[in-house]
Amino acid sequence: MAGSSVTDAFTRYLRAHNLPITHQRLAIADIILGSTEHYSADEVRKALAERGATAGTATVYRTLEVLVKSGLVVERDFGEGFRRYEASRGVPQHEHLLCTQCGRVEEFRDERLDRMTTLIAESHDFARQRHRLVIYGICATCRRAPEAG
Ligand SMILES: [Zn+2]
Ligand SMILES: [Zn+2]
Repeated sequence: MAGSSVTDAFTRYLRAHNLPITHQRLAIADIILGSTEHYSADEVRKALAERGATAGTATVYRTLEVLVKSGLVVERDFGEGFRRYEASRGVPQHEHLLCTQCGRVEEFRDERLDRMTTLIAESHDFARQRHRLVIYGICATCRRAPEAG
C-alpha cells in the first residue's frame, strides 16, 4: 500500500503546502490513485472501512478537495447529486458511460467523436476547445440480472 509513486507525489504535495500528512489522507489517496474507478465520497469511506481504516465525512471531503487541487485527482459531476473522483493518471480526455441502475462508470475514447465535435463547433463558428459527454444507460450486468436486482 505505502510507497507507490503516486502516493509519494501526494505526500510531496502535502509537504510543499504545509498540510498535515496523516494516515487517513494517505489511505484515501492510495484508494483513488491506485484505481481506475470513479469513486463517490461514500464509496471512498466504504473502501477505507474494508481496509480497516476509518475517517469522518469531513476528513474524506477535505482530502478529496486537496487531491483535486494537487492535480492528481479529477472531480466529475455526472448530475447524480454527488461528485465522483478519479485518478488523473495522465490520461487524456475520455468520455464516460454511466449505468443508471448500479452506478457503474465505464470509460471510452473515440477519435471520431473529437472529429465530429470539431465539425459541429466549426459549423457554429466555434473554435473547439473541449467537450464532455456522458452516456446514461443500463450496463450488461444489470440487463442480465433478474428484475429484483
Ligand atoms: Zn449496471
Ligand atoms: Zn473517467
